[in-house]
Amino acid sequence: MDKKPRQSRKKEEYRLRTRLIHGSFDSARWDYDHHVVPPISSSTTYRLSSTQRGAQGFVEFAHDDAGTTSQVPIYIYDRLDEPTRGMLEENLAHAEGGEMAVSFATGMAAISAALGVTVKSQEEIIAHRVVYGCTYSLLTNWLPRYGVQTRFVDLTTPHSLDDALTERTRVIYFETPVNPTLQLIDIAAIRQIVDKANRARKHPLHIIVDNTFATPYCQRPLDYGADIVVHSLTKDIGGFGTDMGGAVIAPRDLYGPLMLYRKDFGGVLPSKSAWVFLVYGLPTLATRVTNQQKSALKIAQFLEHHPQVARVSYPGLESFPQRDLALRQMMDYQGRFAPGSMLYFTLKKQDGGNRGAEAFIDYIAEHSYTVTLAVSLGQIKTLIENPYSMTHASLPEEEKLARGIDPSGIRLSVGLEDWHDIIEDLEQALDYVSSVA
Ligand code: PLP
Repeated sequence: MDKKPRQSRKKEEYRLRTRLIHGSFDSARWDYDHHVVPPISSSTTYRLSSTQRGAQGFVEFAHDDAGTTSQVPIYIYDRLDEPTRGMLEENLAHAEGGEMAVSFATGMAAISAALGVTVKSQEEIIAHRVVYGCTYSLLTNWLPRYGVQTRFVDLTTPHSLDDALTERTRVIYFETPVNPTLQLIDIAAIRQIVDKANRARKHPLHIIVDNTFATPYCQRPLDYGADIVVHSLTKDIGGFGTDMGGAVIAPRDLYGPLMLYRKDFGGVLPSKSAWVFLVYGLPTLATRVTNQQKSALKIAQFLEHHPQVARVSYPGLESFPQRDLALRQMMDYQGRFAPGSMLYFTLKKQDGGNRGAEAFIDYIAEHSYTVTLAVSLGQIKTLIENPYSMTHASLPEEEKLARGIDPSGIRLSVGLEDWHDIIEDLEQALDYVSSVA
């Protein structure tokens, strides 16, 4: 019997976890079909071969379809566009299920660009009350200089939006999980309110979600109605803590504005860093996060039952107050619950003060082998910090206290070490705190 030859599967038909490893090696950006690992392109400027080709390159640059079709871009100058970065961008767009991605030098450069192309003078942003400290500083110190104001509301109750929206609002901005408290914001509920509001608006509102804490492996905000996703690639997507980067994943019509913004503000991702994210970061994201997440649950359960610990916030815990939302919104590429690898906990106060948290962290800084006192997160090494005095220092005192960023709050980013070792190091530090109480 004749057996029909099987048609080879298109790469789009493969599971995302597999696609993060193989990427788009036959990309129109750069054909490196005979390399197993993509080579690094490292050239600040490009041979143009004729004036006509140079002129054509400038005409085509940042054109809506360039880089998102099968057309090979005419590369001109690194700050405009270059192939390694372009290939990373194709893979980031697939990872988030978006139409296209544009990369940036850092997460903050990506956030600035996402806001820069969606809001202008005399318009407003509504942001959740707690955002990463530098995002807060951008919204309160810098954007007002350009005539852009931000109102901060509690988006964990999505209907707070009803009263806060004005004719001038153009963007709803939030992180979910929120850094550092791990509270969640219901993206689909925000979408519903925004859709209703958009019916009466000339300019539609944009929902921008910072998905850094969850990673695209654990949550794809675009599936729930976000318009734009921003990332600090410095964190889990990079994973090894060697390079900084950022990305905006957005609808195709923002490709041109984002590329032009990046060209003129200049926050381009170096090709050598793009290569690191492309070759080491994205391909290992699923494996790293799956394992870190398993350890995070064990550690959260340990902390939850420890007498020195007042409260643990981790979406994977049964006791997590927004458990239903966590189960609905945070899932991996196979549809399994994926609460991530970040947790936040507070220690019981000693003598009404917060000396316990400081003593705990300092003990870890001095004695722990597995847990490192350092800001940043999402690395293969477990990192600990005190958001109140460090990453979120720029938020107003009353706001921090009202929103659960306690002086005794501790943020833990769980790495790939054996979780028994992490727990033993934490336990030793907790024992120390109770001995000096
Ligand atoms: N968004 C979140 C949630 C972050 O935690 C950070 C940094 O810690 C950033 C954005 C900024 O990223 P980057 O440090 O790459 O500029």
